[in-house]
Amino acid sequence: MVHDVVIVGAGSAGCVLAERLSRHPDRSVLLLERGPGWPGTEVTDLYHLPVGADAARLGRTVGYPVRPDGSTVVRGNGIGGSAAVNGAYFLRWHRDDFRSWEHTLADIDAAYRDVESAMSVSAFRDDELTDTTHAFEQWFGPVAGGRSSVDAGRGPAGREGIDSRWPRVGVNRVRSNSIRDACGGRRVTSAEAILRPALDRSNLTVRIGAEVTALERSGDRVTGVRCGAEVIGCGEVVLCAGTLGTASLLFGSGFAAGSLRIDEHREILVHYQPTTPAECPVPLLPSVAHTESGVEIRCYGGDFADYIDGVPRVGPAMGVAAMSPATSGELRWDGIGLTVDLGAAPDLPARLGPELDQVRDMLHSAAFRGLVVPSSVRVDPVVRTSQHAFGSLPMGERTDRFGVVEGARGLRVVDGSILPVGGRSGPHATITMLAGLIGASAR
Ligand SMILES: Cc1cc2nc3c(=O)[nH]c(=O)nc-3n(C[C@H](O)[C@H](O)[C@H](O)COP(=O)(O)OP(=O)(O)OC[C@H]3O[C@@H](n4cnc5c(N)ncnc54)[C@H](O)[C@@H]3O)c2cc1C
Repeated sequence: MVHDVVIVGAGSAGCVLAERLSRHPDRSVLLLERGPGWPGTEVTDLYHLPVGADAARLGRTVGYPVRPDGSTVVRGNGIGGSAAVNGAYFLRWHRDDFRSWEHTLADIDAAYRDVESAMSVSAFRDDELTDTTHAFEQWFGPVAGGRSSVDAGRGPAGREGIDSRWPRVGVNRVRSNSIRDACGGRRVTSAEAILRPALDRSNLTVRIGAEVTALERSGDRVTGVRCGAEVIGCGEVVLCAGTLGTASLLFGSGFAAGSLRIDEHREILVHYQPTTPAECPVPLLPSVAHTESGVEIRCYGGDFADYIDGVPRVGPAMGVAAMSPATSGELRWDGIGLTVDLGAAPDLPARLGPELDQVRDMLHSAAFRGLVVPSSVRVDPVVRTSQHAFGSLPMGERTDRFGVVEGARGLRVVDGSILPVGGRSGPHATITMLAGLIGASAR
């Protein structure tokens, strides 16, 4: 046995965990990443999500097949994982989303602060917003929850002494893991900000182009991993391969059977035509409103075509997404590969009806006069995905609070798979925080 711990996947969680576990000089850590790259070489342009055909050709993304419609969901492949291709929205979950967690809120807050400060997380500034986004915040500030957190979002602690790092019901200025100036911005991943500074540690080894194809086991004990023709023995394997990558390895190695449930944040878009197109670059998602009913109303900064290659130009949109409760789907194994079923969600348009009506009313209101062509407002009939699939092995059900998998020894999962249900924001910040929380508590 050469390594104490083998971590599979150098994504949002894996990079943080590798750094935290290798802080102990007598613990040797091997981090294996399927895709290409090296910390600091990720594509970093904040205003470009590299998930088009070029990124797939360069091996920076992989697609997992979706049933029944035959489409694919994309995930990051390579150092940085999905954080290297995502929208860099880095919002915490709400404080009361952690009610069921066994970790204390003080520990969770400290773990969020650690990753936020390392990854340069800050709220988008007023001067980064379009007029439409300012009008959105004016509209939803007083409507949702009766108070706006926009003012509080400007500084480290808001006017009323409220810690603006925690989102709440009402408007939330989006916080982003990025460095921005007047002319542009770049995303800051956990690979660059947290893993890279640790690369000179003699007890930490990172290998790229190293796809783990199976877990080695002896009975219910995991003894190592198979990586190409090589078998790598170790004391413990930690799967950080992302919800879809981790499920593939668990199914393929006999640690999961049948199907695994997943949560997803499905979204319906309301398109509109602005009277004056925004001048690029503007952030993809600078502001959101969270409702009491667990819906996130997203004020996108522009047309998706401005950010993602190959996407048809249809105009900007507001998004209405079911966050908590999320919609549920399933992961299945066909003996060769994983298929993703995001769930039919036939009730979603009705469930989101009040918020869709609210968005339509807003776009027709006086606040948007002169900003939006009223006749252009239309609800898109397609139910979309936020690319968030998580929660296949929720903490407290299939894993414990440190990610130890029920029924397996020498195996942990620390990635989006173990998020329990209930978060009212996107998963990126919370997955990254959780890896820090678990890593810091390892003795
Ligand atoms: C296009 C896109 C946009 C998104 N935008 C946002 C956003 O703005 N805000 C937000 O909150 N969330 C967003 N998300 C979701 C968020 O990025 C992910 O939930 C989060 O990054 C997942 O972290 P993870 O550590 O679980 O997995 P990942 O970051 O996906 O890391 C998994 C890593 O494991 C590697 N791997 C997989 N299988 C193997 C194997 N067999 N052997 C070796 N390595 C392997 C992969 O290559 C990858 O590097 C977005 C996702 C996508 C795809």
